[in-house]
Amino acid sequence: MKSGNLGYPRIGLERQWKKALESFWTGELAEADLHTRLKEIRLSNLRLQQEKGIDIIPVGDFTYYDHVLDTAVMFGLIPRRFGYEGGTPSLSVYYAMARGSKDAAACEMTKWFNTNYHYIVPELDGARPVLTGNRLLEAYAEAKEELGIEGRPVLVGPLTFVKLAKGYAPGELGDWVRRLLPLYVQVLRELAEAGVQWVQVDEPILSTNVTAEELALAEELYGQLVREVPDLRLFLQTYFEAVEAYEKVVALPVHGIGLDFVHDGGRNLEAVLRCGFPDGKVLGVGLVDGRNIWACDPDDKLKVLAALRNGVEDSRLVVQPSCSLLHVPVSTVKETGLDPVLHGALAFADQKLEETVLLTKAGKLGEAAVAAELEALRKGRAALNESSFRNKAGVRKQMAGLAAQPVTRAGTFEERRERQEKRWQLPLLPTTTIGSFPQTPEVRSARRKWRKGEWTEEQYQRFIREEIGRWIGIQQELGLDVLVHGEFERNDMVEFFGEKLEGFAFTGNGWVQSYGSRCVKPPVIFGDVEYTAPMTVAETVYAQSLSEAPVKGMLTGPVTILNWSFVRDDLPRRDVAFQIALALRQEVEALEAAGIGMIQVDEPALREGLPLKQLLVEEYLEWTVKAFRLSTSTVKDETQIHTHMCYCEFQDMIGTIRALDADVISIETSRSHGELIASFEEETYELGIGLGVYDIHSPRVPPAAEMEGMIRRALQVLSPRQFWINPDCGLKTRRMLETVAALGNMVQAAKQVRTEL
Ligand code: GLN
Ligand code: ZN
Repeated sequence: MKSGNLGYPRIGLERQWKKALESFWTGELAEADLHTRLKEIRLSNLRLQQEKGIDIIPVGDFTYYDHVLDTAVMFGLIPRRFGYEGGTPSLSVYYAMARGSKDAAACEMTKWFNTNYHYIVPELDGARPVLTGNRLLEAYAEAKEELGIEGRPVLVGPLTFVKLAKGYAPGELGDWVRRLLPLYVQVLRELAEAGVQWVQVDEPILSTNVTAEELALAEELYGQLVREVPDLRLFLQTYFEAVEAYEKVVALPVHGIGLDFVHDGGRNLEAVLRCGFPDGKVLGVGLVDGRNIWACDPDDKLKVLAALRNGVEDSRLVVQPSCSLLHVPVSTVKETGLDPVLHGALAFADQKLEETVLLTKAGKLGEAAVAAELEALRKGRAALNESSFRNKAGVRKQMAGLAAQPVTRAGTFEERRERQEKRWQLPLLPTTTIGSFPQTPEVRSARRKWRKGEWTEEQYQRFIREEIGRWIGIQQELGLDVLVHGEFERNDMVEFFGEKLEGFAFTGNGWVQSYGSRCVKPPVIFGDVEYTAPMTVAETVYAQSLSEAPVKGMLTGPVTILNWSFVRDDLPRRDVAFQIALALRQEVEALEAAGIGMIQVDEPALREGLPLKQLLVEEYLEWTVKAFRLSTSTVKDETQIHTHMCYCEFQDMIGTIRALDADVISIETSRSHGELIASFEEETYELGIGLGVYDIHSPRVPPAAEMEGMIRRALQVLSPRQFWINPDCGLKTRRMLETVAALGNMVQAAKQVRTEL
């Protein structure tokens, strides 16, 4: 039995990687120095895995930006607009693809399966694949020469790569795979010639809903790879879910198969036990959660391992994380500020490697040989589980009575609408914004001073009130119908609430790569979530006191808070969402009691948590909708609940947003307006809705006429009684002048179209 790893975080314990990239981009760091710095990080990452005692160490998973981009560039899939003329692609071409240049727009970026990692989308239209180098060969040679590591190169598999790429018709999938195959063959052949034994080929696409044709294609292409490079062993790695067609996948003509036994809902294990695992193949046992930050329960893990050992000899088992450790922070060693009970139950990448080695030893030598280490793991988890953090009587009681909690508003939408129309007397096509106004350098610096203690609480509060006052004035002058306070007191829409609710912790250094050099530090939901005091009431009430026009209260919804955090793994995610929802409900009620008549509960991340498997989607939507409704259903009919979501692919979500039963939803649509509106031609939608009439992601100020066009188009399928006029999303990243100009045009557009009704 061996221990293996599938990928290690690139960013470095001090985020050295990010700093190196960014100073290279600004010109502070010369290219040669960038190479030196990244090499240091790369080698120290490898050394660490070696020191932890990992038997199978991945090489080539390190990157200068993104591993999918690396693969595209290696295959010469460089769109024409970047002016590449053959030979070894330069770093400037590489980074232009990732980030854009003054002459060429960047390639698109999108989420890597259901993670928060974003990859650069390869563009195949018009591309002529050609091998521009062999980065895996370099990585392998470097690890061997410098550290004596016999590494296992990692490569994005052809099926996954082409499926994730764009610029071809669905029927051309096979053509593209076949076109790239000779390049894969060449890369693998060169590796084999250099003495490489095993290559890890990542095919996470096999854990999604693949079709029979795609499976047939996988058979064909792996058959060919194995035939063409007979001296190399291929380790086909899947993750993030159970494989779709277990028997077909494990029968692929490769030498090893890696399966995720953490995020598979038990289905991989069940399949192995039911169908067996083919003789002669190595089984990669993804036991340690590569997506979460918790120390594992060794008894659970060893149970899975024991079950697998019944059918597969030890010599064919590799114990490994469930996926690349790229999705977790580097190490808990720097988390000295956390409560020791919490700290004792955490495992980041380095600790996960230790767990991997420990479980391997327990399997190989017997539990007695590592009894003390196993006991330490058990104790760490038990201490947190039994702590008061996870056993709050009030929360437990509420959760026990969950079934009796209201998830339906008192009145029907029509009844609510009548009361709300009477209460507000708004014009048709009311204008509003999504919540935040520009977070100027002054706002950021004020928060910094306050956090550092340079400013007193009072000073900071005074500053926030001044900002609120200034922007209430601006909104009134612009003639907006429904105002917001501007969210100046918030750094981040999840962190802000996490800091005020019980059950959340914030790491000092728990950074994870989100895209390129951008890293995020997700909050940790480690205990029962409990409401202690109003979180947004003071600012909202203050804003409302300055204006006759309604001011919307502004909250982040339960599902978004959940999806943008690391979540405890001792409860179903659903239950954690319900706990958050019940806490938020108290805030909703507090706002209402304080006289706030419109309350927006944002759910921009609802779609992000969608399961990879169609089979699981319905269940997810059911509990996420329920969580939203738990937090918003107890208000009076005349209180108007708003929500906001930001994504353009929304056509398949109309049923879900209707189920939320929010009186008004605002959605990001300006970049796909036409398509979206077309979807309302097919489906009726009766609740209030604002389709963003301008794109806030660009500094451009769209003229009123352009927005009028969008409004008129929307009014062909939506009634003026239900349509709201708003920008696409919050305005916190924009500058003050462009914001005021764009909103001015937006109000003017609304007024113009009103005259035509
Ligand atoms: N209310 C938030 C804001 O305006 C919504 C942000 C979001 O949708 N991501 O900033
Ligand atoms: Zn948004």
